Amino acid sequence: MFDSIDPIDTCGCGDIGYLTTRTIPIDLAHGVGHIDNVPVYHCQAASCEEYTLPPLVSRRLEDIAEEMEKTLALKAVYAWASSQEESKGLQNHQQTILEAFTFKFTNRVYEDAQVIFVVPGEAIFLQSTLENTEFYIIRYEDDNSENNGLWFSFLKFYFEEPNLTYEDFLDWSESGYVKEIGRVVLDDVEDILIDEFGEWTTNR
Ligand SMILES: [Zn+2]
Repeated sequence: MFDSIDPIDTCGCGDIGYLTTRTIPIDLAHGVGHIDNVPVYHCQAASCEEYTLPPLVSRRLEDIAEEMEKTLALKAVYAWASSQEESKGLQNHQQTILEAFTFKFTNRVYEDAQVIFVVPGEAIFLQSTLENTEFYIIRYEDDNSENNGLWFSFLKFYFEEPNLTYEDFLDWSESGYVKEIGRVVLDDVEDILIDEFGEWTTNR
């Protein structure tokens, strides 16, 4: 049974940490090594170099470090253990990253749009603050044909009722027209939204 990893915990600095991945240094008998793509909690502040490791990940890192010492490797990429655990773990891990990623946008108010709600792991809904019948969605696309990164579509639609709910959207979208503006990889979503709508603040 594979334990799941929470999408949100505490960053090493004490702020809220969102699950993400990064390269971390590791002390090995033969020197300092690095492991890429390690799931960590980080607060997303560019100035913060702290992070924390989910307990499950710390345990796995010990095994990886042991392997690195056996083979005198200084570089490794984080992976889950057996192939069965690996595919389950990878799916969980991906789902958890997606959830943390979408949660992060809750209550953001950009200069020209605000986040009205997020569908954890799936989508971020925004409403234009210039034209309140104009809406945007950043939606995860479960389609790895482009490459193996996490891709999102950037969509736009008009809805006559300014107080849109997710239920309204689901009903409407069966016949309504949603225009795809583009596709974007997870790491670029932040930049695309700032390019499109200006800087953001949190409404809380
Ligand atoms: Zn931090």
